[in-house]
Amino acid sequence: MTATAPAPALPADDPWLNAQRQFDNAAQILNLSPGLRAVLREVRRELLVRFPVKMDNGSLRVFEGYRVQHNTTRGPAKGGIRFHPQTNLEEVKALSMWMTWKCALMNIPYGGAKGGVVVDPKELSHRELERLSRRFASEISMLIGPDSDIPAPDVNTNAEVMAWMMDTISMEAGYSIPAVVTGKPLDIGGSEGRPSATGRGVTITAIEICKRLDRDPNATTVAVQGFGNVGSVSAELMAERGFRICAVSDVSGGVYNPMGLHVHGLLNHRSATGGVAGFPGSRPVTNSELLELPVDILVPAALENQITARNAGRIQASVIIEGANGPTTPDADLILEQRGVVVVPDILANAGGVTVSYFEWVQDLQSFFWEEGEINKQLERILRRAFAQMCQQADLHHVSLRLGAYLVAVKRVADATAVRGIYP
Ligand code: GLU
Repeated sequence: MTATAPAPALPADDPWLNAQRQFDNAAQILNLSPGLRAVLREVRRELLVRFPVKMDNGSLRVFEGYRVQHNTTRGPAKGGIRFHPQTNLEEVKALSMWMTWKCALMNIPYGGAKGGVVVDPKELSHRELERLSRRFASEISMLIGPDSDIPAPDVNTNAEVMAWMMDTISMEAGYSIPAVVTGKPLDIGGSEGRPSATGRGVTITAIEICKRLDRDPNATTVAVQGFGNVGSVSAELMAERGFRICAVSDVSGGVYNPMGLHVHGLLNHRSATGGVAGFPGSRPVTNSELLELPVDILVPAALENQITARNAGRIQASVIIEGANGPTTPDADLILEQRGVVVVPDILANAGGVTVSYFEWVQDLQSFFWEEGEINKQLERILRRAFAQMCQQADLHHVSLRLGAYLVAVKRVADATAVRGIYP
């Protein structure tokens, strides 16, 4: 094995087993009944589809995709769709469970879902991507709808993909159904503030954790892993709030300057060159170097399993804010907790996206649209409330912020299940 080969997948890196383990920790403290535990630690529905797409050269390619609904007790299933060559059913199941807890923690009236297609979108032309998006929307249309299951963007999907999906579902119905997906373009019922919502949420979270730990954002250094929708907006908005962004990375590589990077310059450099690598005034860092830099805050904003038992002992940041879903494994959590590293969990830190998705859906259903100032104000209110509730539970039980967040979220879903009762 060369030094750059990916480490072999261990059971400890299976996101679904890890999601169940996180749930079990909360179920234990909440003393949930065995029956309720059995219900909540599994997904409710999983749909696997294989579908053909016509390639530009006339050939056919068959793709595999998934839509999984973990829970719908508190409302319609909600969650994004990712296009990624390494996605699989187990990953999508984990992501759907995390959506349930995220929506419950924010106290927005949704269950949890996720979707994925096994594809590297960079290998497709724009027309091929459109045909794939439309066909996948059609294949999962038996599950999705404004009252049942509402997709949104995730890794490698965006407003344009959402527009194609909304159009496909609407054409099949014979009338426009804007509320069937969120994260749409503004022209067809998208919301002000949605594209920047996740990064804004990360920034609000960073300010709240600084207050809790009595730190000054103006004297706080940050490394951001990932420069997609979440990482780039987080870096930009955190820099505006006084944080010093010292390192960022994307698929092109990582860049570091202990004195701070000029984030706007970096965004321009990326537009011009396609990546952050080679940004003037920085030195290159590898992905693992970036995670282990001597900064105050680390924001993993890429994929799962970035901080594991293999590197948790070497993380120098004292705070980790999870912009991605599932970047830290439960084994790593134990090591970080022992070392006094504070982890602000994904279901809080990246919940800005789904919260503004909720606002978008409400606006679509009412056909009445709000201004960006109102969106941002309501987002901040909901995130700060959830942050306080998470801390309150963590302090009460002397547990990590992740467990505190799970105690709030799992209890809400458990209570809703008990109130509804079991059918028939
Ligand atoms: N994909 C985002 C997430 O993981 C947003 C989901 C949504 O807006 O429904 O939270």
